[in-house]
Amino acid sequence: MMDYLKKLPKVELHVHFDGSVRPTTASELLGQPLSDVKEAMMAPSTCHSLTEYLKRFDLPISLLQTKENIIRIARELALDLKDDGVIYAEIRFCPLFHTQQGLSKEEVVEAVLEGLSTVDLKTNLILCMMRHFSFEQNLEVISLAEKYLYRGVCALDLAGDEANFPTGQFAPLFEVIREKQIPYTIHAGEAAGMESVKSALAFKTNRLGHGIHIIDDLNFAKQYENKNIMLEICPTSNVQTKAVSSYQNHPIKTLFSLGYPVSINTDNRTVSNITLTKEYELLQKHFGFTEKEFQTINLQAIEYSFLKQEEKDEIIKTIKKM
Ligand SMILES: [Zn+2]
Repeated sequence: MMDYLKKLPKVELHVHFDGSVRPTTASELLGQPLSDVKEAMMAPSTCHSLTEYLKRFDLPISLLQTKENIIRIARELALDLKDDGVIYAEIRFCPLFHTQQGLSKEEVVEAVLEGLSTVDLKTNLILCMMRHFSFEQNLEVISLAEKYLYRGVCALDLAGDEANFPTGQFAPLFEVIREKQIPYTIHAGEAAGMESVKSALAFKTNRLGHGIHIIDDLNFAKQYENKNIMLEICPTSNVQTKAVSSYQNHPIKTLFSLGYPVSINTDNRTVSNITLTKEYELLQKHFGFTEKEFQTINLQAIEYSFLKQEEKDEIIKTIKKM
C-alpha cells in the first residue's frame, strides 16, 4: 500500500526549507551525535504550542548560513521530494534568516535555486515575510520576490507567530504586494482562529497556509464565496502544534466534502518527522480517502499553484496518467 502511495504523483504547495533539513546532514555538519541533533530538530508528537514547535528551526537555520551548506541542503530536499513521489513543489523560507554570516539575501536565494537545479524536479520558491519583522524588513522580502519573480520565485507568504502577531495588522503589506502584482499565500487559521482567517481573506488571497480554523464558523465556511480558496493542509503538523486535538479530529475531510479545494502537505519534513507518502497513508487510514480523491486533491493543488497555465497543463497530464 505504502508503495502505491509513494509512486502516486503528488503536488506539495506548503513545505518549509529550513524545517526539512536531513538530520544526518546536520549531524555531519555539526559533528554532533545524530540522536542529539534529532532531538533539537524534531518536534515532539504534541507540543505545548506553535511557539514551541518553532524552536526546532534554530539549529537548521544556524547551519543554513553558507552557500555550500545551502546548496547541499536544497539539493537533498529536492532528492527527498522526488523520492516521495512529488512532481511539483513550492518550497518556502525567509531569506533574511540566512544572512547572519555575511551572505547577501540575493546570494541566499541563488544558492537555494542552485541546489534545487541539480535535481530533475520542477520547483518554485515562496519567500516568507515574518510576523515579528518590522514593516521595513518585510518590504525587503517583497523587493527580493519582485527581483526573482518568475525566475525561481513564484510568490510571497506571511509566516511566524500567528497568535501573538494578528493577521489583521498586516494590511499595509498586502496593499504593497497587490500593487506590485506579486502572487501570495498567507499562513492563517493555524494557531489563531476565524479572526485570522477572515483578515487573510480580506487581503484577497486565494490560498491559505493551513486555514483549517475556517471550520470554526460552519455557516461562514458553507457560504464563503464559492469556496474559491485553496487550503494548504498539513495534518501531522497541525496535531503537533495543537491546531487540532487529534488526527481523527482534523477537519480535512469535512472541508473537502464541503467543496473546498485542499492540498496535502508536510509543512516541515524534519520538524514534523513526516513524508508526504506517510501523510497520505495516515489520511487513508483515518478518513478513507480513495485513490480518485487523492487525484482530485492533486489536480486542485496544481490549479491553485503559482505556475503559469502551460506549466500547469504539463503536470495535469502526468497526474491524470495514473
Ligand atoms: Zn507552514
